[in-house]
Amino acid sequence: MNVSKRTLAIAGSGLSAIFTALTIKSQLDTNIVIFDKARGLGGRLATRRAENGKFDHGAQYFDISTLLDVPEIQILLDEKIISSNNNSDKFFSPGGMTNIAKFLLKGFDVKKEHKLLSISEIGGEYSLNFENAQSIICDDIILSCPMPQTIEILRNSKIEYDDSEMDSLTKLEYDPCIVIMVKSKNKISEYNKELGNMFADQDISWVGDNTLKKVSDEENFYTVQCSPEFSFKHFDLEYDKTNDLLEKELTSIFGKGYEILSNHKWRYSIPKNYYSNSESLVIKNNNFIGLCGDIFTNGKFDGAVRSGISIADKYIKNEF
Ligand SMILES: Cc1cc2nc3c(=O)[nH]c(=O)nc-3n(C[C@H](O)[C@H](O)[C@H](O)COP(=O)(O)OP(=O)(O)OC[C@H]3O[C@@H](n4cnc5c(N)ncnc54)[C@H](O)[C@@H]3O)c2cc1C
Repeated sequence: MNVSKRTLAIAGSGLSAIFTALTIKSQLDTNIVIFDKARGLGGRLATRRAENGKFDHGAQYFDISTLLDVPEIQILLDEKIISSNNNSDKFFSPGGMTNIAKFLLKGFDVKKEHKLLSISEIGGEYSLNFENAQSIICDDIILSCPMPQTIEILRNSKIEYDDSEMDSLTKLEYDPCIVIMVKSKNKISEYNKELGNMFADQDISWVGDNTLKKVSDEENFYTVQCSPEFSFKHFDLEYDKTNDLLEKELTSIFGKGYEILSNHKWRYSIPKNYYSNSESLVIKNNNFIGLCGDIFTNGKFDGAVRSGISIADKYIKNEF
């Protein structure tokens, strides 16, 4: 196998894409180009600054017990990019989750604000067509986008693939999540079991404290997640209106002295169902097209990492 001269393009800069890139880089001399439609790195590892504080508004904390043999996880621990409080098994990134992506992607060619629309096959290569009218020529591609976005790209590209397999991919779905970033006058320590607290049967399903995770130097910066049911029902409403609908619940948690500094909507937050056949999927061997992402595993941090490593292993073993 000689893939040293190949160019691999990776769609997405979230965890699965990052671990795809790191694993391939550790074993092959392939040119790797990573691109993402977003302005920031990390996908659902997401941190936002507001006033003098910061909020993690995507993944909140994670379990690394199944990842201790992954070299980069050890490096993240050694470099204190990730840690936990009081030997808890809930890990986070002081300073914010996006620090993980920024740290691990150092040295990679990463193109932001590159939304892939379609892939054209031209003379044994792929031409990637982006919304910003740019294009990239590559030999191989790995897509790590949430599945509905991946399917849209494949359909726009007229990539031939087994119909029944494609059908099963279209059945994979995610819950949406509306997130509210709150600065409170009051500390709500009674709600803080470890890093946050889950609420059952309410429109608000989770409140997490960004100070406990050392994400925010400012005290009382809370990330509030809405339930899947509320998020689905009100996804297309303007933020002012969703915030108004939640006023009673927010007041019961924070009292009168709270201020909403920012909002975010995740159309694809946590998978509702999973691809169960494998931790990643090869659509084409030559030129390679592979898929990865958290929906191939467990919809979480550790699963996204495993899926990225899985597709990388298949790429490395592929006979080009
Ligand atoms: C609100 C929320 C809370 C969560 N809480 C937790 C938690 O507490 N613990 C936990 O373990 N996990 C949690 N998760 C899940 C965790 O964040 C994900 O499992 C993991 O980050 C997914 O990584 P990924 O690489 O599969 O996908 P992503 O991080 O979504 O990466 C996919 C990337 O593809 C990009 N993309 C999409 N379409 C295109 C396109 N057309 N062109 C170019 N780029 C494109 C996206 O911009 C994105 O950056 C949470 C997620 C959310 C949203």
